[in-house]
Amino acid sequence: TETTKDFVINEKLVDAIFKPRQDFSHKGTYGKVTIAGGSYGKMGAAVLATQSALKTGAGLTFTLAPRCGYEILQISCPEAMFTEGGNEFIENFETENETVYGVGPGLGTNEKTQKGLLNFLKKYNKPLVLDADALNIISKDPKNLNLIPEKSVITPHPKEFERLFGSTENSFERLKLAREKAAELNIYIVLKDHHTQVVSPDGNVFYNITGNAGLAKGGSGDILTGILTSLLAQGYSQEDACILGVWLHGRAADLAAEKYSKESMLPTDVINTFGSVFEELN
Ligand code: AMP
Ligand code: MG
Repeated sequence: TETTKDFVINEKLVDAIFKPRQDFSHKGTYGKVTIAGGSYGKMGAAVLATQSALKTGAGLTFTLAPRCGYEILQISCPEAMFTEGGNEFIENFETENETVYGVGPGLGTNEKTQKGLLNFLKKYNKPLVLDADALNIISKDPKNLNLIPEKSVITPHPKEFERLFGSTENSFERLKLAREKAAELNIYIVLKDHHTQVVSPDGNVFYNITGNAGLAKGGSGDILTGILTSLLAQGYSQEDACILGVWLHGRAADLAAEKYSKESMLPTDVINTFGSVFEELN
């Protein structure tokens, strides 16, 4: 692949992408996010993604989740709005409005949810963010990959990547396969790892150098989904949202580790550190 390039994500690149808040603006300026996820016992994942979208600047944030998540969401994220979905949640997916969907955190993979998600993807063709159980549902049949809308962002960790696309010998082969699949499906693949790689459909790869092992705990990926969905809703291109998003996620984690230690820092602490990163950018 002679025409493709590899880049390291550095402050200069991120500064060039970042768009500061405008004085003459209102919530409509910063887009609508809908986090679709959560299930009994896994509402925390949807809450983390929702909080993360709220704390990265989205104008309006909705959470589409089953009835059991209603009080949990309204109490933990009063700024967000709840749309009830239940097992047939997919009927509440709106295909016409302007929202950007981030689907998967805590979604669960029961049969009704599987059917619902796949039916939704058959009808929906705008770019969205797919993570976690959304990817696990898709990976049950390789034909499902073609249901992913073009220009969407998928955020697999290594195990989810393997479920989606098959196993590879080493990380070099995995990146090669990711490049092929991103081009073939015309999607952005955020290959989450110690050094996360953003793989564009044109074959370019952007390496992230922020982040640390304090992120190696449940919930870290869910907050990345919230960030990416929020940045897309705010009008960043897919590539810019991925680059800025993974850098912001990792940089906040590095600052949180300084303050709380890698052992003790939680995804919630990372969310509460986004502000310090925005101060660095502004
Ligand atoms: P998930 O497995 O979906 O919760 O995603 C984990 C998130 O934390 C991804 O964004 C990873 O890049 C990040 N992460 C996990 N472990 C590490 C690590 N050892 N070093 C840096 N980032 C990590
Ligand atoms: Mg995850």
